[in-house]
Amino acid sequence: DPRIPKIASSIRVIPDFPKPGIMFQDITTLLLDTEAFKDTIDIFVERYKGKGISVVAGVEARGFIFGPPIALAIGAKFVPMRKPKKLPGKVISEEYSLEYGTDKIEMHVGAVEPGERAIIIDDLIATGGTLAAAIRLLERVGVKIVECACVIELPELNGREKLGEAPLFILVTSD
Ligand code: 5GP
Repeated sequence: DPRIPKIASSIRVIPDFPKPGIMFQDITTLLLDTEAFKDTIDIFVERYKGKGISVVAGVEARGFIFGPPIALAIGAKFVPMRKPKKLPGKVISEEYSLEYGTDKIEMHVGAVEPGERAIIIDDLIATGGTLAAAIRLLERVGVKIVECACVIELPELNGREKLGEAPLFILVTSD
């Protein structure tokens, strides 16, 4: 796809953020590039429109940027998968491990129905722990994960292998 190189070059890399040794992939510069941002959304919409997808689940926080325009364009609802204690209603939650300790993501009870077909959106997959937790959360309530979609993959961390049967679609690989 000829649009991919421009998307890739619109992403800024910030060394040593948030900790020494991390090369942080900063998608805020992609959002400033009107062509790259539109192309990013268009590629996902072209892929998922007409596939019977009724749920776009976005992972906090940057899945909240890319998810809603995709959801609107394909005629699906947007479901936020949030960090703990942010959602006001009754939630179900799923834990996942971090380098040190654990974290959780939560979703409102009743946001999705058993049998719905979903895609899960985030900006980036690193270890795959976050997306794997999002998959488990949706599968627990009977939702079919058609695919996970990210703008960026850090392939060295083999996050893909944590996703089980769920396919992963990405635009940019960063090594
Ligand atoms: P994982 O669970 O796959 O190890 O980490 C992915 C999560 O961490 C995503 O929600 C993603 O937004 C965030 N993340 C980790 N590293 C980076 C990075 O370099 N850039 C951005 N934008 N997000 C990151």
